[in-house]
Parts: sequence; C-alpha cells; structure tokens
Amino acid sequence: MRNRLDSGPCAVDTKGRGVRSFLSPRQRMKILLVEDETKIAAFARKGLEEAGFIVDHADHGDDGFHLATTGGYDAIVLDIMLPGRDGISILRQLRERKNAIPVILLTARSELNERLDGLNQGADDYLTKPFYIEELIARIHAVMRRASGNEISVLKVADLSVNLITREVTREGEAIELTTREFALLTYLMRSPGRVYTRTQIQEHVWNYDFDPGTNLVDVYVQRVRKKLGGSDRPALIETVRGVGYRMVMDPPAG
Ligand code: CA
Repeated sequence: MRNRLDSGPCAVDTKGRGVRSFLSPRQRMKILLVEDETKIAAFARKGLEEAGFIVDHADHGDDGFHLATTGGYDAIVLDIMLPGRDGISILRQLRERKNAIPVILLTARSELNERLDGLNQGADDYLTKPFYIEELIARIHAVMRRASGNEISVLKVADLSVNLITREVTREGEAIELTTREFALLTYLMRSPGRVYTRTQIQEHVWNYDFDPGTNLVDVYVQRVRKKLGGSDRPALIETVRGVGYRMVMDPPAG
C-alpha cells in the first residue's frame, strides 16, 4: 500500500504539511521514539523529521527510559515489545514519577491486552502497526494540544464552520448533516485551505485503505459534500483542480 510502512522508505509524500499547518505554531518539537524494529523506526523517524520534529531514537527499553527521564521531550512514541524494559513498564514508571509527558503507544494488532493495559497506565493514545505517518503526526499534535490545553476545536472557511468536538457543521449558521466519511473528507480539505490534495491522498486519508484506483469514490463523495454545502446556489468551497485533485478555496468568489 502507498504511504504505509510496508511500502518502503519513500512512502512519506506530504511532509506532514496538511496536518501541521492548522496546528500549534510551536516550532521544532522534540520527540523520543522508542522502537526496536529497524524498519519501523527508520520510517517513523524520517516522516517525523520531514514534518519538522526533532527526533531522538532508542532501540532498547532501558535507553528509552533513561532518555525519557532526562531528555526534555514534548512527546514519546513508545513501542510495547522492546529488549530490556518493555513499553508498558516505561510508561508506568514515568507516571509513578508524576511525569505527565504525552505518550503514544505503538502496538501490534494482536496486542489488545497490552493496549488496554497501556491506556490504564496513562498512555494518551495508541496507534496500531502498520500505520500512516500522517496519522502518527496528527496524533502527536493532538496529544500535545490536549496536554497544553490549546486544542483547536473549530475549523472555518468563509461562512462554513466545523466543530471538531461536537462534529457540528454549519454554513451561514445553518446546520448541515454529514456522514462520517463526508465529515472526514471535508475536514481533511479544510485543514489546509488552498492546498491541492490528490484523489489518492484523499482516498488514503478518508478511507484508510487501498481500493481500485479506477474507482471514482472520491469524486462521488466530493459531489455529495458540495451538494450538502449548498450546491450551485452558493459559492463553491471545494474546487476541482483539473488533472490533480481537489482543494478548499481560500477566498470564495462573492455571490
Ligand atoms: Ca518491538
């Protein structure tokens, strides 16, 4: 699959810009990555660095714990199965020391019990491997925003407003009902007005899996969302960029 770990080291194609641009203005945040699987560590490190993070990597649990307690990180991305101290032990020991640093656990699909254990021990979030680098970046930003109390909850473009917590969508104050996929599609575009997203990027973000590239599912959903946003009666907010994809307008034309 594209953009996933198993597609190889060149899978990161957006440098996290779509995620980063609407988030915290803080620059160069420092992340500790504790992961013993070389391929996953290289993939995550490359993606995070391209998104502007400073990344320290430990491939052993004891080194990870030492860095976590001394390194002054903004967040930790923590594997569970590690040589030396395992991820859950690291997390528990950090919390016992009243260290509240945001922690995102990396878990295998089979590690349900460990995942629950981790959340009980005070993990802020978890991500199942393999994962999309954009998802990891988004979750890092989310846990850090929660930690700092600065979570952005409302996206606005022109007269369109989306509350990410209540999931209310309004245009000129009028409520619009969207399905889960439609909501995901709209908010993906709204996070970076003016930025063009390819159908593949939209597909991977909104559906999170590969489907037949011949399908026009993305186009169908864009049409549906446009219609719900007011069809041809109102200025179009989602533009088609011929031969490329779609974007949310920055300044919709009057009328
Ligand atoms: Ca591991």
